[in-house]
Amino acid sequence: MSDKTAGQDMKAVKRLDMVIVGAGFGGMYAVYKFREMGLSIQAFEAGGDVGGVWYWNRYPGARVDLPSIDYCFSFSPEIEQEWTWSEEFAAQPELLSYMNFVADRLDLRKHYQFNTRIARAIWDEQRQIWQVFTEGGELYEATYCVMATGPLSVPKDPEIPGLHRFKGELMRAARWPHEPVDFAGKRVGVIGTGSTGIQIIQEVGPRAGELFVFQRTPSFSMPMRNKTLEPDYVAEVKRNYAGLRAAALNSAVGGLRPQSTRAFFSVTPQQRRSLLEDAWKQGGLAMLGTFSDLLTNPEANEHVAEFMREKIGEVVHDPAVAEKLKPRGYPVFARRPCLDSSYYETYNLPHVHLLDCLDDPIEEITEKGVRLRSGEVELDMLILATGYDGLTGAMLAFDVVGRDGLRVKDKWKDGSRSYLGLMMNGFPNLFMTTGPNGPSALANIVRISENDVNWIANALTSMHHNGLSAMEPTLEAENSWMETVNTLAQRTLLSKAQTWYVGANVEGKPKGLTIFTGGFPRYAEHCAASARAGYREFTFTGVNRQEVA
Ligand code: NAP
Repeated sequence: MSDKTAGQDMKAVKRLDMVIVGAGFGGMYAVYKFREMGLSIQAFEAGGDVGGVWYWNRYPGARVDLPSIDYCFSFSPEIEQEWTWSEEFAAQPELLSYMNFVADRLDLRKHYQFNTRIARAIWDEQRQIWQVFTEGGELYEATYCVMATGPLSVPKDPEIPGLHRFKGELMRAARWPHEPVDFAGKRVGVIGTGSTGIQIIQEVGPRAGELFVFQRTPSFSMPMRNKTLEPDYVAEVKRNYAGLRAAALNSAVGGLRPQSTRAFFSVTPQQRRSLLEDAWKQGGLAMLGTFSDLLTNPEANEHVAEFMREKIGEVVHDPAVAEKLKPRGYPVFARRPCLDSSYYETYNLPHVHLLDCLDDPIEEITEKGVRLRSGEVELDMLILATGYDGLTGAMLAFDVVGRDGLRVKDKWKDGSRSYLGLMMNGFPNLFMTTGPNGPSALANIVRISENDVNWIANALTSMHHNGLSAMEPTLEAENSWMETVNTLAQRTLLSKAQTWYVGANVEGKPKGLTIFTGGFPRYAEHCAASARAGYREFTFTGVNRQEVA
């Protein structure tokens, strides 16, 4: 069979129950879950293999900033027992090995077409199916579409003129080559000092001939104090996995993070200091568990921010450099807090230079390097750690057309909106995992992915039992969810920093915090409640296409 769509020669149409996009945590679990439910599936992934973020982000120093034992699937007790993490915060090679292990163990790869991008997905209302076109010109038709495209999968180049002119090695953190990269003797520049830049700088600094860090906004970073996991500890974790998962599901971030019910000003200044010192010594995520009101009480937040600025001053020898590294003007933790091993120490190396692009802005990239207002910095290599078009970038990277020709890019022109981050009015049978109006970037992505895939599976089972073929949330349900999201967003300090959380890093992107900030348990409860209530906030179509209230 042959067809012509969007000017492309189409190959034979393949008819399926479900198309799944993405091979990160959400996509891999979706492939497993829906295959086990007996659906015919086809999955696509732009990368050459499974792993999602961990397939792409091979940059030196890439490492998870949540405990490894928590940042992994919970749906298979067998996999929990068979896989052994070596470090508290695993590095990218180990994370990618884990994803590969799961893919092999569950035989997931055969369902994927790798190196394949989706160009368009169009809902055919008449036939009640999604038509999914690959960039290679293939057409797949499926009853359901699961977009497991991830909140951080579209890297963003900086809006600096001349990037294409650079004649040296131009490296992008999120598109790092598979081959080893040599930094020895080279003049290396890094643009970007978020979580990615910090990991790169501390790793490349000691290895480069000279390192030039182009910093615009400094980040707060806390000591990771990573550890090798001892066999006894691992055995204890494996015995206890069910309990650990239950604890994670009950925590606001869907993860094993220290929490506190203690308000900052409820204890004496001496006690505060000693709690902060202890947490700093402990490292990892301990600082987040010191006080309950870090993200709601600006005064408490500023005290903690000042504590962290002092710590920078204690490590960095040159007071002028230390001063530039101290973040000011936004609440601590309103940007994603970074964990480092030797970030601030790196600036004590004589060949590492901090260039403050707030005082001395980057004007352009030249053939030879980076031109600041004060002059040109010649480089052999320029590394971009300039972030992502977060939360919505992946869904807007291709053309998704729902009922009556409604496009996601039009629906989201004033900001993303959906019901539970899972589905959108106007887009029947189109499901998202870790969608932009769920807890997304603010909670453990693996727990959200599992929650979302399970929710979709239950919804499909319910439709099947009731002889229904298509579902979508009502506009009222979507509006009401967005009102909940927006109301909660006003209570946090998260929107007080210019970050990808609020769309501030992408020119022309609608600004605002559209992430659900009510915590993972509340989110999961909203999802569960919609199922318990018989999906009454959805409209359905019967197999014979009648509207079902
Ligand atoms: P990011 O936090 O958005 O940081 C991007 C950096 O690039 C910022 O410092 C930004 O400065 C800078 N930048 C962008 N355009 C620039 C320009 N034109 N001139 C100068 N500087 C420019 O991105 P990221 O570091 O990739 O982190 C994104 C998210 O990925 C994190 O928040 C985290 O969720 C995740 N991540 C996690 C890990 C981990 O688990 N360990 C590691 C890496 C990333 P401004 O702030 O001034 O715009």
